[in-house]
Amino acid sequence: MELDYHWFEEMEARIPHGEVRTRFAPSPTGYMHVGNLRTALYTYLIARHAGGKFILRIEDTDQKRKVEDAVEVIKRTMDSCGLDYDEGPDVGGPVAPYVQTERMSYYKKYAELLIEKGHAYRCFCSEDRLAQLHEDDPNAKYDRHCLHLTQEEIDAKLAAAEPYVIRQKIPEGTTTFVDSVYGEITVDNADLEDQILLKSDGLPTYNFANVIDDHLMGITHVVRGSEYLSSSPKYNLLYEAFGWEIPTYVHCSSVMIDAKEVDEVTGEEHNIVRKMSKRHGDPSYEDLMKMGFISPAIVNYVTLLGWSPKGDIAEQEFFTMPELIAAFDIGGISKSPSAFSMDKMKYFNSSYLRNMTPEEFTAVAEPYIRQSVKNPNANVAEIAALLQQRTEALTEIPEKVDFFDALPDYDVALFTHKKSKSSAESSRDMLNVIIPKFEAIADWTVDAIHDTLIATAEELECKNAKVMWPVRIAAAGKAVTPGGAVEICHILGKDECLRRLRVGLEKLN
Ligand code: GLU
Repeated sequence: MELDYHWFEEMEARIPHGEVRTRFAPSPTGYMHVGNLRTALYTYLIARHAGGKFILRIEDTDQKRKVEDAVEVIKRTMDSCGLDYDEGPDVGGPVAPYVQTERMSYYKKYAELLIEKGHAYRCFCSEDRLAQLHEDDPNAKYDRHCLHLTQEEIDAKLAAAEPYVIRQKIPEGTTTFVDSVYGEITVDNADLEDQILLKSDGLPTYNFANVIDDHLMGITHVVRGSEYLSSSPKYNLLYEAFGWEIPTYVHCSSVMIDAKEVDEVTGEEHNIVRKMSKRHGDPSYEDLMKMGFISPAIVNYVTLLGWSPKGDIAEQEFFTMPELIAAFDIGGISKSPSAFSMDKMKYFNSSYLRNMTPEEFTAVAEPYIRQSVKNPNANVAEIAALLQQRTEALTEIPEKVDFFDALPDYDVALFTHKKSKSSAESSRDMLNVIIPKFEAIADWTVDAIHDTLIATAEELECKNAKVMWPVRIAAAGKAVTPGGAVEICHILGKDECLRRLRVGLEKLN
């Protein structure tokens, strides 16, 4: 086989040097789980912290796993998290294309180059023969049968167009590599199989395509899940075989979750910590969004699942993206991440919601308020103001404010409330006093409503709560409401508020 060395030189010449270059390399499986998102975040932060380049590469060689629209899910998630990439499928770049299926012609050439260099060989073994090896010993590695073919035998098989794969020739000895998170790892090469690099259909295996692309794209830091740690010695040997510089490896541990497991024998439930997974129905990024969490809170929390700041900011919990970029260091990535916790997610989310400006909060809350408050005259900003300090997830909102649209058919027993010293009787008396006073208010402002209620408590020489309680119950028809009597009455408007107080009075009569 004639190799076009000029072409290889041209490929080398395209590789950018002198900057940190990282890539997020998802397979389009249609689902961005929290672990994937965290890998994307760390990959992004390493590049941005160093003022380098962040690249998106789509690893779609395994067509069986391919899901329609999956690339859209990835791009949508990255966009929503603020992970802008400098090079990638739709934006292009100096080492395009950025989709593996568009790079297919490269892999065969590099596999042949590796044969030429003596680090790979053609294997003509039939499926049957390989199946037999496995049947004899399920753990058997390939027995290197074809490594020993003579050149004449190989030429004859090629001439007869026998199908073949190309395998990596693993050298003798040991392989040592350093991972930035897991430290130095040494393996005995005897434990490594002569893995397939190129399949008989000419398509690369994932392990091969990954190394070729990382090299040709000038990737300096390979950031990925720890499930690839055990394959890294083989990647290392490939870099060495080509004579290429080995990138910095950053393997990230799995994201765990606290879960319950039912013992099949005893039926007892106990707590376990397991890997977050789609199979168990754990939420993806988009699921978390649907559950009412906002992107900056998710990004902040997920980044801290396995990375911790150091020094002056060691105790800091809340980070904007620019702060993360400034603070992020590979040394802060931990081998043992803390488990994803819904309570912690809610804690981060509610903090972010509370710290928004009223306008920002109204904007994110409005679609949720509108799920239950359809009245076009309702003042959404005023309703949002009631919610801002007490919302953990946005999805709680519709149920909390549904009473603004329609007075629930509530039980008269709600008027009885020990703490405010309210009884059915006292509530009836209060409403009898308040209704005419409310009717007399000309300008229905928060202050006017407030002052009327407080003045009434003074007149009657009772606690404010004894006045507020029946008014709020009659106005909302619910024991628990965001906001108190004054705010609720104001939002309802004078006419609707009075109508509801009269309904309450009727119930009490
Ligand atoms: N395509 C691989 C995945 O989605 C990524 C592996 C890597 O980053 O090297 O799991």
